[in-house]
Amino acid sequence: MKKMPTVFIGHGSPMNAIEDNEFTDQWVRIAGKIPKPEAILSVSAHWYTQGSKLNDEASPKMIYDMYGFPEELYEVVYKAKGAPLFAHDTRKLLSRGVEIDNSWGLDHGTWSVLRRMYPAADIPVFQLSIDGDAGPEVHFMIGKEISALREQGVLILGSGNIVHNLSKINWGMAGGYPWAEDFDHYIKNAVMNRDYQQVIHYENAGESSKIAFFTPEHFYPLLYVLGAAKTDDRLTLFNEACLMGSMSMTCYLFE
Ligand code: ZN
Repeated sequence: MKKMPTVFIGHGSPMNAIEDNEFTDQWVRIAGKIPKPEAILSVSAHWYTQGSKLNDEASPKMIYDMYGFPEELYEVVYKAKGAPLFAHDTRKLLSRGVEIDNSWGLDHGTWSVLRRMYPAADIPVFQLSIDGDAGPEVHFMIGKEISALREQGVLILGSGNIVHNLSKINWGMAGGYPWAEDFDHYIKNAVMNRDYQQVIHYENAGESSKIAFFTPEHFYPLLYVLGAAKTDDRLTLFNEACLMGSMSMTCYLFE
C-alpha cells in the first residue's frame, strides 16, 4: 500500500470552489502530483464542535455553510461517497472519545477544496471535527494518532487558514497587513524547522498572534497535519501568500 501524504490547504474564500486563480491552480497541480488516495479524511475549520465528532455515512450530504455569496456557489454539487470503514478505523486509533455524528456532512471547507483537487468526486470522503474545547496540544496529538491512516492510503487533509481574521479583511488589498505576514512567516519558519512546539505555542510569535485570528478554528487543522507528518517526510510549501490584508493562503504538503 502506498503511503499517502498529508496536506494543509489554506482554503480562503468559498469562491475558490468556482473561481480559477493562482491558488486553485496549485491545488489542482498537487492533486495530480501525489498518489490517488483510497479515501480522504478532512479536518475542516468549519466543523467546530464540543468534543470530537466523526461522520460515518455511506453518502454524506453537502452543507452550504456560507452566506451572502452568488447563487452559483450554492449550486455546486460534490457527490463523494463516505468512508464508513475508515471512519471506524479512525475512531479506534483515537485515545480520546469521539462521537459518531452524521448531523453535519461535507462542509465548504472540504468541498470547495476537493472539488478542485478531485473534480470527479470518485474518492470517498469523511470528516473529523475540531473539538473547540481542546487546546492546541490535543489537536496535535490527535494528528499523531490518525497518522497511521496514511499507510492505509488515506489522505489526511487539513483545511483552514494560518491567518484568518474576517473583522480586519480588506477585499481590495493585494497582500497582507504586516502582522499577517509576520504571523505567516513565524509559522512557516517553525514548520520548516520542524519545531512544532513553536506552532503549538503560537503565542510565542508575540503581537501578531493576537490579531492573526480571534478564534482558532481555521488555524487548528494545521496541527492535525503536523501531528500526522513524519520526520522523514519531504515538506513542500505552496501558495505562500497573504491576501485581502488578513488571510493567509499558505499550504504545507508532507509526503
Ligand atoms: Zn473557511
